[in-house]
Parts: sequence; C-alpha cells; structure tokens
Amino acid sequence: MLLSHDLEPGGASLRSPSAEIARSKFVYAFAEGDASDKMLLGGKGANLCAMTQIGLNVPPGFVITTAACLAYLEGKGLPEGLMADVRLHIAELERKTDKRFGDEANPLLVSVRSGSAMSMPGMMDTILNLGLNARTLQGLIRTTGNARFAYDAWRRFIQLFGKIVMGIADDAFDDAMAAFKRQHGAAQDVDLTADQLKALSEQFLEIYRKETGHSLPSDPYEQLQLAIEAVFRSWNGKRAVDYRRQFRITKEMANGTAVNVVAMVFGNMGEDSATGVGFTRNPATGENAIYGEYLTNAQGEDVVAGIRTPKPIAEMAREMPGLYRQLVELRDRLETHYKEIQDFEFTIEKGRLYCLQTRNGKMNARAMVITSVEMLEGGLISKERALMRIAPMLLEQLLVPTLDPAHRVKPLAQGLPASPGAASGRIVFDADTAEQRATLGEKVVLVREETKPEDIHGFFAAQAVLTSRGGKTSHAAVVARGMGKPCVSGCDAIRIDVRERCAEVGGTLLHEGDLITIDGTTGNVYPGQIPTVEAEFFPELATLLSWADEVARLGVLANADTPRDAARARQYGAIGIGLCRTERMFNDTQRLPIVQEMILADTVDARRAALDRLLPIQRADFKAIFKAMAGLPVTVRLLDPPMHEFLPTASQLEFEISHLRHLQRLTRSVAELPDTLRLLDPELPRDYVESLGKLQQSLVQYRATHRDDTLLTRREAMLKKVHLLSEVNPMLGHRGVRLGITYPEIYEMQIRAILEAAAECVQEGIQAHPEIMVPQVCDAAELKHVKALVDAAKADIEARYGVALNFKFGSMMEAVRACLRAASLAELAEFFSFGTNDLTQATFSFSREDAENKFLPQYITGGILPENPFEALDVEGVGRLMRLAVKEGRGARPDLVVGICGEHGGHPESIRFCHYAGLDYVSCSAPRVPIARLAAAQAKLREKEYAATVFV
Ligand code: ADP
Ligand code: MG
Ligand code: MG
Repeated sequence: MLLSHDLEPGGASLRSPSAEIARSKFVYAFAEGDASDKMLLGGKGANLCAMTQIGLNVPPGFVITTAACLAYLEGKGLPEGLMADVRLHIAELERKTDKRFGDEANPLLVSVRSGSAMSMPGMMDTILNLGLNARTLQGLIRTTGNARFAYDAWRRFIQLFGKIVMGIADDAFDDAMAAFKRQHGAAQDVDLTADQLKALSEQFLEIYRKETGHSLPSDPYEQLQLAIEAVFRSWNGKRAVDYRRQFRITKEMANGTAVNVVAMVFGNMGEDSATGVGFTRNPATGENAIYGEYLTNAQGEDVVAGIRTPKPIAEMAREMPGLYRQLVELRDRLETHYKEIQDFEFTIEKGRLYCLQTRNGKMNARAMVITSVEMLEGGLISKERALMRIAPMLLEQLLVPTLDPAHRVKPLAQGLPASPGAASGRIVFDADTAEQRATLGEKVVLVREETKPEDIHGFFAAQAVLTSRGGKTSHAAVVARGMGKPCVSGCDAIRIDVRERCAEVGGTLLHEGDLITIDGTTGNVYPGQIPTVEAEFFPELATLLSWADEVARLGVLANADTPRDAARARQYGAIGIGLCRTERMFNDTQRLPIVQEMILADTVDARRAALDRLLPIQRADFKAIFKAMAGLPVTVRLLDPPMHEFLPTASQLEFEISHLRHLQRLTRSVAELPDTLRLLDPELPRDYVESLGKLQQSLVQYRATHRDDTLLTRREAMLKKVHLLSEVNPMLGHRGVRLGITYPEIYEMQIRAILEAAAECVQEGIQAHPEIMVPQVCDAAELKHVKALVDAAKADIEARYGVALNFKFGSMMEAVRACLRAASLAELAEFFSFGTNDLTQATFSFSREDAENKFLPQYITGGILPENPFEALDVEGVGRLMRLAVKEGRGARPDLVVGICGEHGGHPESIRFCHYAGLDYVSCSAPRVPIARLAAAQAKLREKEYAATVFV
C-alpha cells in the first residue's frame, strides 16, 4: 500500500534507510496533487487540488497523504523525512502569502484539516489558526490593526489545540466562556471586546496548563507536528471507528486520513468578512438556486456549530451584492467542473471570496431526482449519468410518510425545516437514552439544544431529531439528512432543561417520554402523535423512471395480493404482478371459518362443500385484480403454506378446551344449587325462591341448546387435526404442490377460480392474462399432475363460457432439486419464477428465523459470510443454481420466461445479478418498484463491469 503510490525519483525510500533512493512522496502542493486520487489525498485534499488547478480562489496549501497516516498509525512515528518535506512546503506557502511561519512581524497561520476518501462529516478533527503564540499574536495585531480579531483567533486556537492534540474536554473552555459572557453582560461571542477576549485567552491558557501540566508549545513547527499527528490519530478515534462501522466504510473505500495544511483566511476581520456554507442547488427541494447560510464576522465552525443563528444566503444578495455575484460565479464554475451538485465552504476576508472545500452535495431523494432531470435538460449531464448518480435505495425516502393533511393539531412551535419527512415518538433528551429506549422497541425523538458528533448513536436510534439551536446546515441537520430522517433545527421557542429532563414551549411543559410529532418538511413541532400518509409520485420521478425503463432490459413486476395492492403497484409503474399469494385472501376474517371448515372436513365431499363456498369468493378476488391490472400479466401462486397455519395453535386450543370443560362443570353445579340449599337449610331458599328459580330455568334452557357441547366438540376436533397436521419441520413439510397432490380438490377450486375470473373478464371485454404458478415443485411429475387439473378446467370453462382463455402455466423455483431438474420442468412450465427466500434457505440449509436470531449476525461480523443472504442474494451459491436453471430451462424451452419473486427482487445489488443471469423480470413489493426500475437500468448500464468483476 505504502509503496504502491506514486514513487517520485529523488526522494528516500521508507524501507531503505538511505536517503539517496526514491521514497514515497508524502506531501503534495494543491497545485500538483492528482485530483482523481481520493484514496491517497482524501476527498477534501483531492478537491482542494482540483479547485486550485481549475483556477478557483483557494488559499495556498498542501496535502499530507493517507499513506503517511497509515505509516504513522503502524506505530513507527511520522515517516522519515516527512517534517522536512512539510518545511519545504511551508516555505512555498510563505512565498505565496508573503507571510512567515512563526514570524512576529507578519505571521503566517495555517489550518490543519483532516479528510479521508469518504466524507465522514464531523468525525475527525481540524485545528485553525495554528502558528500563533505570544509573539506572533502581537504581529497579527500589528499587521491587521485589529486586536479584537487577533485575540479571538488566539482563544480559538488554544481551545482547538487543547481539545484535539491534548484531549481537553470542550466543557472546560465552554464553561469559562459562558461565565465570562455572563460576567460582562455579553449576549453573544461577538459582543466581547478585545480586552475581554485577551483576558479570556489568559484563562484558556491557564486551563491548558492545569489540564496538561505544561504550557502550550510556542514553536509553530512543534505545534504543526503535534497537530498532524493528532489528526492522523483521530482516524482511529472512537467516533470515527463507530461511524465507519455504521456506514460500512471498508478499507477499500477509505483507509486513513490525509492532512491538509492550508494558509488561514479570516472571516472574522469585521463586517466585510464572513464565513458560510453553500449548496449549488437546494438539497431539500432540488430547486436550481444557490442555497446556504453565512455569518458575517465569524470564523470556521461558527455556522455549523449553531453558536449564532446564521443568515440565509439569499440575504447576501442585498447585504453584499458584489460578493454575492462572486459566489454565483463560484457556483457555476463548480457545477461545470464537477457536473454534480456541490456542497462548499467559503470564507470572505475583507471583501475577497475564498473557497475552502467542496464535495458532492448530499441531497434527499426528491432533490436528487429533480436535479438529475434538470441537469440533463440543462445539458450538464448525460442520460446515463442522470440515472447512475442516484443510488436506487435512496428512492425509498420518496415513500417517507408525511403528516395526514386532515389533521387539525396546532403546532407547539416552528423551527427550521432541516430534513423532510414526518415522524412521531417519545421525547428523549440525550443520545444514550435514545439508544436505550429504542433497543426496548420504543420510537423516540431526540430533542437537544444542538447536537455534536458524539451524539451519532442517538441519531441511529431516533425516528427524528429536534434541536433548539443551529441552522439548516447545523450538525443535526446535515446528519439527519444523510440518514433520511426528519429533522427540525433551530426551534428556539423550545427551552430545554436536560438536567430536569423537561422542555418548555409557550407554557407547555414536555417531559421525557411524552409523545411528540415533528415535520421536517415544514419545521413544525406538534404535541402527541399525528397519523402519517404515504408520498405521491411527482412528475420528475415519473420522467426519470421512464428513462430507466427505456434503458433497462429487466421488467419490473410487483408482488401484490389484493386489488388495492395491485392498483398501487401499477401506479408505481409495475408492468404486471409477479406474485399473488392466494393464502392472504384466505386469512380474511370472514373467510377463515370456511377455510377451517375445509381443513377439518373428514370426507372429500365435506371438503368440496366448503370449497364450493370459497370458489365464488376467490373468483371475485381474482377478477378484481385482473381488472386493476387491465391486460398486464398476473401471476397467481396456488396454495403454498402448510394447512395448520390456518388453524389456531395447539396451546390456544387446549386453553379454550379446558375453559369450556370448566364452564360445563360450573353450569351443572349451579343448576343443582337450589336443591342442595333446600337440603341443607330449608329456611334459606324461601327468601330467594324467585331468583333461584329463574336461574335454574335459564340454565336448563342454556343446556338444552348444547352450545357448550358444540363449541367443545369443534375445538376438540380442531385440536385433533392440529396434532395430526403438526410437523417436525413445517418448512420442509406438507405444503405447496404436495398439498395440491394430496388434496387435488383444493387446487382444482383455485384453478377454476382463476380461469373463471379470466373468462368473465373476457366476456366483459377486459383483457386478463393470468399465469398459474405452482409452488415448491421439485420434480416434473408434480407439475404434470397439476397441469392435468389445469387442462381439464380449461376445456370445461372454455366450453361453458364460450371464450378462448389466454394464460400461462409455470413453476416456482425454490427447491434445490427444481434447479437441478430445470430442463425437465421446462418441458411443462412456460415460465420459472425463483422464490429466492426459500431457495436461499434450502441452499444454505438455514431456516431463516433461526439463522437471523441465532448465528447469522456472528457469521457476518466474523466475516464468514459477507452479508445476510436473505437480504442480498448469494450470487456465488444460490446465484449459481439460478444460472444453471436458466441455462438448462432455456435449453429445453428457448422462450422460457424467467423471473424472481423473492424479497431479493427489490434489492439493487441482487437485481444487478438477475440482469447478469439473463432473467426477464424481477418482482418486488409495490413500494420497492421505483427502486427496482432504477436498479434495473443501472444493471444494464453497468453490465460489462459486472461480468468482469464477479464471474470469470
Ligand atoms: P470539517 O471537515 O469538519 O468541515 P474543515 O477542515 O473543513 O472541517 O474545517 C472546519 C472549518 O474551518 C470549516 O468551516 C472550514 O471552512 C474552516 N477552515 C478550514 N481551514 C481554513 C482556513 N485555512 N482558513 C479559514 N477557514 C478555514
Ligand atoms: Mg469542512
Ligand atoms: Mg416460498
């Protein structure tokens, strides 16, 4: 790794002690670094190089590579010669800025900034104003003529250096600052005078001494080296490690952090100076307008930290029109170069605009879709890029719930709409509590004054985040947007008291555990829980997905069991139903008793009687679905689950039986009560003669109905049946086509229901294309058996209805043997549909629930399996069987249609495999259809790459 990067002749090798031989180049000036090598330079460094090289106004600086970081973290200290190189580059900065590092007349100050190949916002550290000490401070005061500014920079440096290099907690400094402001009646940091900041710096230096036992190093190079080392170490800090684990950032994606040393520019030099962050387009709405926030007379993190509430960039057009024009020009040049929305940091020093960072903007799904369509239409990007730049899973956000528009709850307060979507949950005031309560299954909303990177686990646990301070680019807002969670920030009407675990807003007191609803789209905060509704398609999404359909080879169908699901699937763009599970219809409360009657029937005739009652019900269901799909194919799976799934459990029945028996004993005893009483105490019954008589009479009536007997007999019969049906391993038991063979009348009824529904549609002039699918097949003989039922029904129905039926007959592929016998199955089956949930269970010999609850997590963390094969299709094992089945099936029947209807059908990476394996379609749940459509297009666009990387 170390030596594989650009070797530059003339340096010294790491391995060789000799300085004569070439060694890795560890330091690159912004003007020379290879902007395409983010692994080596980190994203921030690579982009600083790119911006410098295309002529944007970036302060001069250089990058120390991730390779240097890794060498340092191996424990051997900084690579040999590194600091010498750093000195050479500092000398170059001195030439460019006309300032000197450590010089008391005209000091050069730098920032030391982290940045790895993957953006990890706020996870690692940056030190500003490095190079200050008691002497250079005086130089800064003299050259700027601005003592207030210089002391402000000084106290920031002391705190940052103390925190990042020496690990001194922020609290120590923040408390001193707060006390100081109170003492001097200053509302904000900017209200402090030069003298006050000077005194504050003294306090800060004292804190530093007390906490570390020595004084702040004054030698700038010593400061620089310590800072570089600290930034390198922050790569392995707990925060960064947790973040990488959560977002699955592997070594292949980012390995080590680079360090960027950048000449300081100052946004805190007065009212013609400012600092801010911007997006080239609105990351929440996609609107093509520069978007962001800024603060005048402020430095670095002030905007993000929420110390003061920043101003929207639109205001700059009025406040500083000249600079606003510069900003718009910067925006245009960034987009033209990157062909992507940029998220950038800028600082204005005395009227001059500098760009300090840029990276691809993280947007919500809606904004991604809108910008894709607009950038294409604006000629900035190609159709391919418009499709490829959106990760399909992101579209899931488009189906995030919004508040039920009919709700009439009055908001408690309004903050900034920082990340869209609505959610409810119980209030928690810190990240640890959020985590604890969420683990117990509670939905929580994290409510804080502001959030910091160390709160990250609270974000993972929470449904939504609410802060009382900070803007739309505050930490809370950025992190929540990245995660697609609703966030309202800067809701300053809420006063939070973490110690008392309560918050107060306009006279309402909220306690921890109270329900609250926030709407990140409007910024509103509501008391209690408000129902939410699903999102609707918007025109740009329809456009983008129509482009995807043009490109894709795979068709996208949906799994839908009811007419309502079917309608939704069509609305999402499914071109058919790939899986309609008939048993879902059986479970309807009105139908279940009939289904149970059918199961309990002791004779074929009795079973037929029950099935005769089910037939019209199923026929009506199918007809409604065919109508909803109007001519698109509808794949109906014949009954699949074992029959005991439609009966209560044995323990439930035993419980009811014992209660019924008890009831019988009780009524008998109560009926005997008057006689018993008369026998024991002849006086007593006289007083109660009337009521006892009545009781006796009604009990006689009750027992004459034999209600309890009937109930009991029924329960006992059911229990007997449950015992009879009970299986050691139901997953591998009496289910699927095996039921169709042992109880042909069940399949007969279903086949008739499907074909009669189709015949009725034809009569009514509605197109219907049913596809009859047989589950759990492992041999052609099974298919043959069912095919005979189908043929018989077809002949009968066509004759009775006088119509020609147009349908297909096919097999599910979910048994390993089915894949191995694909050629013979294809002689009967016109289509195959892989049921990859069961096929995965069968291929691994894992039962899903047991695997996921017991050992799979350890398999994954331990690296035995790369991923959960029930989420991401196992291309090497299950995929191999699929490819075999496709090949042999098509060998026997060249026009065999092949699809997948397991959950993997909605998983982008699995869809990519399905494309590669030559499937015709994927079928997934309706809300996943947009994801699958985009993934299918990307699979086509990336097909070459796939073949080369996965199977050789
Ligand atoms: P992060 O990755 O957390 O954003 P950065 O390295 O970008 O950290 O720096 C933190 C803040 O300091 C940012 O607001 C950035 O713009 C500012 N900053 C960094 N370097 C300089 C510099 N040389 N001059 C002025 N401001 C700087
Ligand atoms: Mg930054
Ligand atoms: Mg199955």
